[in-house]
Amino acid sequence: MEKYIKFIKREWANFAFQKHIELPLEEAVISFTFDDAPRSAFIEGGSILEKYGFAGTFYIALTFLDKLNSEVSFSDEDLKTAMEKTHELACHTFKHIDLSKTNFLDSVADIRENGERFSRLFPDHQFQNFSYPFGAETLAIKKFLADEFRSARGIGHGLNIGKTDLANLKTIKLYRDRYSLAEIEGYIETAVEKKAWLIFYTHDVAENPSPYGCAPAYFEAVVKACANKKLNVLTIDKTLDLIESAAQNRKRNSLEHTHHNN
Ligand SMILES: [Zn+2]
Repeated sequence: MEKYIKFIKREWANFAFQKHIELPLEEAVISFTFDDAPRSAFIEGGSILEKYGFAGTFYIALTFLDKLNSEVSFSDEDLKTAMEKTHELACHTFKHIDLSKTNFLDSVADIRENGERFSRLFPDHQFQNFSYPFGAETLAIKKFLADEFRSARGIGHGLNIGKTDLANLKTIKLYRDRYSLAEIEGYIETAVEKKAWLIFYTHDVAENPSPYGCAPAYFEAVVKACANKKLNVLTIDKTLDLIESAAQNRKRNSLEHTHHNN
């Protein structure tokens, strides 16, 4: 029943409100994202991306900062190093709450708390992007996030192509037992063909990964496939910059056209 209610809330949120943009891009973009994020995501995942000259997006719930006896824990050193290596730190609520089970004001307070704590650690930076813990959404919080953040990533499976909801970006899991490398390469091929935005997500990147994570060799094989194809691998924030500047260029060109015609 609880699962059903969560499903209904999410379906309703996505039916009733979208923050639409129109893709394709000029060429495919691949983003690697990590939720929570366990230290191994920084140590293994981050360094594999760096090895190929790429950066990833880490959706952080700061309640896990220096948390003892927790599957998820990272230090402020991990965060600082990630920032120095040009990875993106993004928001994932403070207490990793299920937004479909939390009332609106408590949800907002929790999300703002993550931002405030982040500003204390990094006074010059701001979380600009968000991912929904457990993929749980409500209509009210989705609208709030659409105003407050550049984007919000859900856990809905797929490529971002055509009419794309920036308040519920789609993703493909890099989980231990989910897709074979051949299947993942298939998704990458499709993204290239359709000039789509393909966002991967995982949690830990470790030799004995959780069911929500993957092994370093698997992760590296995916990153390497993107490098071999010379694909554009960007953080969520950098991809949004690219989309915005392309839209501005289109606008400028069409204005110039109008002027010439006059
Ligand atoms: Zn999470």
